[in-house]
Formats: sequence, C-alpha cells, structure tokens
Amino acid sequence: NDFEEMGLSDALLRGVFAYGYEKPSVIQQRAIVPCVQGKDVVAQAQSGTGKTATFSIAMLQQLDIKSHHCQALILSPTRELARQTHTVVLSLGDYLGVNAYLVVGGERVVDMKKRLQSGVHVVVGTPGRVKHMIAEGALDTRHIKILVLDEVDVMLSRGFEEQVRDIFFDLPNKADLQAIAVTATLPPEVLKMTEKFMRNPVHILV
Ligand code: AMP
Repeated sequence: NDFEEMGLSDALLRGVFAYGYEKPSVIQQRAIVPCVQGKDVVAQAQSGTGKTATFSIAMLQQLDIKSHHCQALILSPTRELARQTHTVVLSLGDYLGVNAYLVVGGERVVDMKKRLQSGVHVVVGTPGRVKHMIAEGALDTRHIKILVLDEVDVMLSRGFEEQVRDIFFDLPNKADLQAIAVTATLPPEVLKMTEKFMRNPVHILV
C-alpha cells in the first residue's frame, strides 16, 4: 500500500514526497482512504504514528482550491499542536496552493479577522479562539465540510468539551459534514462525544 494507490491528486502527492515521506505509516495506510471517501472516522492513535499527516492529506484531497470559502476546520487542544499542524498542512498542500490559517490565542484579533475575511481554505486552531472568531462573524462556517478533532481525549481533559460542542452545533452544514476524530484513548466521555458528532464512524485502532 503506497501513497500512489490512494487516489490522491498529483499536486498533493508532490507535496507528500517533497516533505520527505516515501511510504505511508500504518495509520496512513488504513485511514487515509476511508477519510477521503468522506466517512466519519475515529482514529485511535498516539502521537508519533503519523496521525497529523493522515487527516491533513485526507482533508487536502477534498478541498476545492478554486473556492475561497473555509472548507475545513481542525481543532487542537494546544496552541503548540495547532501551530505544528498548521505547518504540516501548508507544507503538504504547497503544490495545491492551499491557504491555511492559524487561529490561536495570543495573536491580534483585528489582524486575525482581516485575514479570515480575505478568504482561507482551512483553519487550524484552538477551541476558545475559534469559537470567538465564529461568534464575531469573522470565520464563515457555512461551507465547512470537514471537521477534525485532534487529540480529543486531551481536548476533553483540558476542559474544552463545551467549546467544542458549541462549535459543532453552530456549524450550519451538518448534513454534509464529515467528522474525523483522533484520540490516543477511548474513555467514556470521548466515546460519548464521537457518538454525538458522528454517523456510523469507522473505528481504526493502530
Ligand atoms: P505525528 O503522529 O503526526 O505526531 O507524526 C510523527 C512524526 O512522523 C512526524 O515527525 C512526522 O513528520 C513523521 N511522519 C508522518 N508520516 C510519515 C511518513 N509516511 N513517513 C515518514 N515520516 C512520517
């Protein structure tokens, strides 16, 4: 099972190889294709298994780059993780011309609003600031079709449950929404959240 066999666009494959990935990791072999098919996926995987590239590649493959609406939202439990994921998305999507924007606390709200309103394909952020940008009308959620919840277990243990839930329930386009959740552990509160947000999710354990 190789990256070439996953039905990815040439521009995306170029990005993957240019980033230095030659062979997909186990989770990439098992999860990229179901994610690209638009299925809801719960990937139970630790950091270090290649989880970030898994959802980033699957998300990038589904973007309409010609459209300037925000189509994907990636939520991370920490600024640092959001920052790393943002870098990965930009690198892998370099040849696609993806416009990904980081929405975390500590950046100036006015600058952030301007940037969001100028059009971005993907937002990577932490729940608090993302919720704030939605409430301010700066982040247009009408065209978001992919929601990635990274490290859901950490997100819940850090008390982000309510903010994540509010963001999810405010997304207007839920009939077409694909949810992808990554978690290292599956305690009851994580299961409860995935059951609430997802339709028959494919569960992949690596
Ligand atoms: P993650 O699980 O997303 O934290 O990734 C762990 C590390 O593995 C990161 O340094 C990635 O850049 C790297 N990595 C992810 N996928 C691959 C791959 N297919 N080939 C080589 N390295 C990879």
